[in-house]
Amino acid sequence: MPILPITTVTDLRRVTDGFKSKQQTIGVVPTMGALHEGHLSLVRESLKNCDQTIVTIFVNPTQFGPDEDLRKYPRPPGDDLTMLEALGVEHVFAPADNEVYPSGFSTMIDPPAVAGKLEGEFRPTHFSGVATVVLKLLNMTQADVAFFGQKDFQQVLVVQTMVADLNVNVEIRVCDIVRESDGLALSSRNVYLSDQEREIALTLSRTLSHVEEMIHEGQTDGFEIVTEMRQMLIDGGVTSVDYAVVADPKTLNTAETISLPVVALIAAHVGETRLIDNRIITL
Ligand code: AMP
Repeated sequence: MPILPITTVTDLRRVTDGFKSKQQTIGVVPTMGALHEGHLSLVRESLKNCDQTIVTIFVNPTQFGPDEDLRKYPRPPGDDLTMLEALGVEHVFAPADNEVYPSGFSTMIDPPAVAGKLEGEFRPTHFSGVATVVLKLLNMTQADVAFFGQKDFQQVLVVQTMVADLNVNVEIRVCDIVRESDGLALSSRNVYLSDQEREIALTLSRTLSHVEEMIHEGQTDGFEIVTEMRQMLIDGGVTSVDYAVVADPKTLNTAETISLPVVALIAAHVGETRLIDNRIITL
């Protein structure tokens, strides 16, 4: 059956009230569309673990900065629905901007402290927009479980902290990063990359592998590691590095001396495209 996306909160509420009245659990997968295997892995987890799955598709304007790619962000709705149909998804919520942010809307979440680091230094309003839309989508869908990708590592921390701080009655599940066979983390923004840029983009995952090797071989000097990360990225041809760090996976604090587990995180520009990637490094 072709999916007919739900576009209004009223219609969505009718559907979710039905699920609730039957004591069915609701899994939600928030996305901005332009779906790929990374998104689909979250959808499969929801289908496996929850009675009902709602995939939301909404390119959230409040999480884009004024100079970012909101206008050109890929929006292929036909393809997205075909992919979701093939998995057996029945419920897609794809609201218009003015359904989520009607005229008069003025409440924004002030995100938790962890939002101020890394991404927050380069995209100062980003996590306020993310936290606001995630909280709204959780409320709109009456989610019991929400699925997020480790690909957006800091986003997961922001959402987990917000949910705990504000006593939101939802379980957050985090799914592994899905990569191409050569290591490139799947991202909707990869479509912006030329063939040559795609080659350069591989430097991000290669740098993370190198960091893991260095640490497993006994390197504990945080400064040495970060210096080498930056150098490897520049040598690999990235246009600029926003950050390349090794940090505590709970706080994102960086340490002079590495003590596992840590997370290595990178944000770098390849041409005009900003890419992020990360790896958790354990014993
Ligand atoms: P987005 O559409 O980019 O907002 O992403 C929607 C969700 O998919 C987020 O929870 C992302 O972390 C997750 N996601 C994006 N790329 C990947 C990937 N390569 N592997 C796993 N999850 C991903």
